[in-house]
Amino acid sequence: MFKIEEAIKLDAQDEISQYKNEFYLMKDVLYMDGNSLGLLSKRAETTLLNLLDSWKTLGIDGWTEGENPWFYMSETVGGKMAPLVGGKLGEVIATGSTTSNLHQLVATFYKPTGNKTKILADELNFPSDIYALKSQIALKGLDPAEHLVQVESDDGRFLSEDRIIEAMTEDIALIVLPGVLYRSGQVLNMEKIAAAANDRGIPIGFDLCHSIGSVPHSLHEWGVDFAFWCTYKHLNGGPGSVGGLFVHEKNFGTAPGLAGWFGSKKESQFDMNHTMDPAEDSSAFQVGTPHVLSLAPVIGALEMFDEVGIDRIREKSLKLTGYMMKLVEHELSEFGFTVGNPIDDTRGGHILLEHQEAARICKALKEAGVIPDFRAPNGVRLAPVALYNTFEDVWHTIQKLKVIMDEKRYEKFENKRGVVA
Ligand SMILES: *Cc1c(COP(=O)(O)O)cnc(C)c1O
Repeated sequence: MFKIEEAIKLDAQDEISQYKNEFYLMKDVLYMDGNSLGLLSKRAETTLLNLLDSWKTLGIDGWTEGENPWFYMSETVGGKMAPLVGGKLGEVIATGSTTSNLHQLVATFYKPTGNKTKILADELNFPSDIYALKSQIALKGLDPAEHLVQVESDDGRFLSEDRIIEAMTEDIALIVLPGVLYRSGQVLNMEKIAAAANDRGIPIGFDLCHSIGSVPHSLHEWGVDFAFWCTYKHLNGGPGSVGGLFVHEKNFGTAPGLAGWFGSKKESQFDMNHTMDPAEDSSAFQVGTPHVLSLAPVIGALEMFDEVGIDRIREKSLKLTGYMMKLVEHELSEFGFTVGNPIDDTRGGHILLEHQEAARICKALKEAGVIPDFRAPNGVRLAPVALYNTFEDVWHTIQKLKVIMDEKRYEKFENKRGVVA
């Protein structure tokens, strides 16, 4: 058995361990679900409460006055997210949600012409992305069954970059792929894929929901055309917090597919003309009034990423998941788990354990005070998060899982998922 002393030693060596004190950790709970919904931090709470206060004390003047004037908040928060995606100032804006931003970006960059009419995606992406792509194809009067190409996976876990590149044929008008796969946690080689797309003149965009705040990106340098993400997973912005998008500087001036007055130049927005004067940077891709209340907690949440830096977060995250995999290998080998995430450093911020009884193992984990999430049909996802989880948390999680398997404690539950996870 691996002793807890090793975990205690690893925690003592951890240079960013103090950040867990910034978060509201639930009593007697081992939270391993920060890749689905990050926890509330005191700083996020403060910026949300301050926002309410600005409404209370300033009324409509809150748009232009106070600590965080609402009129400029999307741009300000976008600027704070830029280092996390490797974007230049002006390339990133906080707006919308993952799915609504995807709609905006496809409406902007998908221009089927002649024989070049198809969208290239993959068969492992999150369902909402696929629904959005199919509906955008249908809006162009085309048949999604014919015009959405989904690169296949051999094992249902991973995608091959070479196979993706082979699929970039003459008939592809647009490419949309995930940065990190939500089930297996595979980090796609975005640089290599983007370079191949650029060579072929095909616009390419990435969904960064599972990669932002977890792995570093260099979107500008890689020549990625656009990207989009949510802020409620690794960024800890809170349920339904405002998402973000990136549009590469080379694409500035492209007319937004879905236009609205908040995409205007700030100085002329209130001229109220019927001819839009779009902003010259990624601001142009906003639609309506920003969801200020859902943006406020993101300001506080991002401060910690700024202080720690994504490289140190990634370094600790790899150590946490590496330690977890080591414990799984040695402590759980007799119980029929398969590790479904990449073993090497192409794994993202979570690990995936596959097991026939996964749904009810997750229920037994919850009963034991561990929060995992279940991904159909057979996945237990566990995300030890760099900012608030410890090596000791990882050790206790695997010990609890071992007891559940040893004593078959999952058998008293039905092997069916709950409504959300
Ligand atoms: C979480 C997630 C979404 C969710 O989209 P919303 O519009 O925020 O509900 C979409 N795509 C991926 C890959 C995700 O991980």
